[in-house]
Amino acid sequence: MKISVIGSGYVGLVSGACFTDFGHHVICADVDASKIEALNSGKIPIYEPGLEQIVSRNSNNGTLSFTTDVEAAVRETDVVFIAVGTPSRRGDGHADLSYVYAAARTIAKAMKGYTVVVNKSTVPVGTGDEVERIIRETNPNADFSVVSNPEFLREGAAIEDFKRPDRIVVGVEDERAKAAMEEVYRPLFLNQSPLLFVNRRTSELIKYAANGFLAMKITFINEMADLCESVGANVQDVARGIGLDNRIGSKFLNAGPGYGGSCFPKDTLALAKTAQDYDHPVRLIETTIAINDNRKRAMARRVIAACDGDVRGKKIAILGLTFKPNTDDMRDAPSISIIQALQDAGADIHAYDPEGMEEAKKLLGNVTYCDNAYSVAENADALVIVTEWDAFRALDLSRLKASMKSHNLIDLRNIYRKDYIEKAGFQYISVGRP
Ligand code: NAD
Repeated sequence: MKISVIGSGYVGLVSGACFTDFGHHVICADVDASKIEALNSGKIPIYEPGLEQIVSRNSNNGTLSFTTDVEAAVRETDVVFIAVGTPSRRGDGHADLSYVYAAARTIAKAMKGYTVVVNKSTVPVGTGDEVERIIRETNPNADFSVVSNPEFLREGAAIEDFKRPDRIVVGVEDERAKAAMEEVYRPLFLNQSPLLFVNRRTSELIKYAANGFLAMKITFINEMADLCESVGANVQDVARGIGLDNRIGSKFLNAGPGYGGSCFPKDTLALAKTAQDYDHPVRLIETTIAINDNRKRAMARRVIAACDGDVRGKKIAILGLTFKPNTDDMRDAPSISIIQALQDAGADIHAYDPEGMEEAKKLLGNVTYCDNAYSVAENADALVIVTEWDAFRALDLSRLKASMKSHNLIDLRNIYRKDYIEKAGFQYISVGRP
């Protein structure tokens, strides 16, 4: 099949590259000329394990190409995926659909013959209807179907998630589009990945319901962590104790500094807004958002408390900036709020992240960026683990102890054991453990 993908960011690029591995011909288009120039010269604009090999293999064999000419990409293909951003709209928190609608207008002008327009971006219920209306208005004679196919990949494990998904959700309103989508996902279908066909509005809501639920699960264990600290219980044991129950499941039960990233914060907000618009507020999600927002600054207060209640003029070393390991994505990372709160309290912030520093520099001012976990800790009053990169799991504690000014280790991801760290001569503070 000939497929084009409009928007070559995390989702567009991973989807496009994996579709070529499924045997399709793919053109990835983007309005960002520097991104396309990089891709055309063999550079991957994001950090995603395994992506570079797939992109280079399929670019070299001619099945994957990149262009800024979005209309040309659409003209040459039967199935067009929209994978543009849907950030929070400034001011009210609704999903900003302007990129989706701009893509729909471009597609409408360029489409030739029967075209399946597939929305892979995360969009509120009813967006497919509006995309259909825009295309019909722009090109009244167009022969097309609009499909919803939300993406569930996780950054850092995106290739694996795309090729071996728990399920593929497809929202269709007609048989022709259904047949086309079966063809797109044929290799996964043959692998027996569940392919769930539902109506378009249901498909759109499934994506938000999934992210809302996961955000709520994280927030639940974070609240349990706080309670554990008050009652002398251990949140990791609580998580294991409840997670072994199949009805609950063990994933997303790691207590930490609160969820962040490019999806959960904006998607929970958009879900809450949609529900309010329909006069059915989802209070669990509204509360989840409020708890999570407070939590990040609460983590900064934890660091301040470890430094005898005052960080003014003190050097705080931050390990990990991205919202999770194995990505360079800094969008809504908890580190941003934590660092800003510490700066507000007068701290001198030094930071190191294996992949996220270039992105972090665009968002965080007045931070000294360091080369590794040891240089960041030199002369520091506290070392704070914010992201659980593997590289931080086996730090040389005697080396750190020799170079730090005060021996405070605040582990917001619970990657160390208290007795191990205390034996090395540190004051150790973690999350939800006695
Ligand atoms: P991104 O910002 O990395 O990429 C979006 C790309 O679209 C950018 O490169 C931008 O230049 C391009 N673009 C915008 N308007 C365009 C237009 N009119 N024509 C062509 N290109 C255009 O975003 P992302 O993280 O890939 O997310 C895309 C969508 O997928 C969002 O709705 C997001 O919520 C959803 N999603 C993201 C993830 C994730 O982990 N990042 C996972 C699942 C779903």
